[in-house]
Amino acid sequence: MNRKDSFKIIIIFDNKCVNEGYLSGFGFSALIYNKLSNTYLLFDTGGDGGVLLHNIRNAGVDPTQIAKVIVSHNHYDHAGGLASVYTQNPHIKLYIPHAIKKYKRNYPEAEVVMHTELEEIDEAVFVSGQFGTSIKEQALFCKTTRDTFVLLVGCTHPGLEQFIMKARQMGKIEAVIGGFHGFRKLSYLKGIDFIGACHCTSYMHQIHSKFPEQFKKVCVGDYFLF
Ligand SMILES: [Zn+2]
Ligand SMILES: [Zn+2]
Repeated sequence: MNRKDSFKIIIIFDNKCVNEGYLSGFGFSALIYNKLSNTYLLFDTGGDGGVLLHNIRNAGVDPTQIAKVIVSHNHYDHAGGLASVYTQNPHIKLYIPHAIKKYKRNYPEAEVVMHTELEEIDEAVFVSGQFGTSIKEQALFCKTTRDTFVLLVGCTHPGLEQFIMKARQMGKIEAVIGGFHGFRKLSYLKGIDFIGACHCTSYMHQIHSKFPEQFKKVCVGDYFLF
């Protein structure tokens, strides 16, 4: 890693694009190595624990090294692999939207932290706080040494623009990676250098053609330094 990079973000689970040696499944997950705290964090867990653990190991990381797991929302394609991570490491710290109550019961050995508002959960790493009405969802904001932000998003059911607006209160957004769902208010993406739309993104072609320079194809096994 470059001296100025704080984060290595590895795409660990996706249904759209997968490198050789990795497995595919429906869902999304990204593994973050935070150099500032020397910590591995997992954002979402994909829909299948076996696929998830295979891909983590294939990326050269032992699942027991993961100290913190952030779940964006309680759909199986984001939380489905969590039980497998928990089996590997029951004393994990879990960060979930406040509205989801069952995790404390389901993962009794874990430390479960429930969020309503924006909060720093690791050095320079923030959960957005929960958004949405029927489906509560949170995103992850990683603050770089350039004071810009890298956004990791799950399905963005409440609308990607909600998370973009929240992050912009803190600084410039450098990158956004994850599922954009039915997001089509594309003007919100202006000024973002790295647009890594994947998983459930419906308007992939429209986003790609409007932002050809910024659009990045992200595949399982790819990693990016910020
Ligand atoms: Zn969902
Ligand atoms: Zn999803």
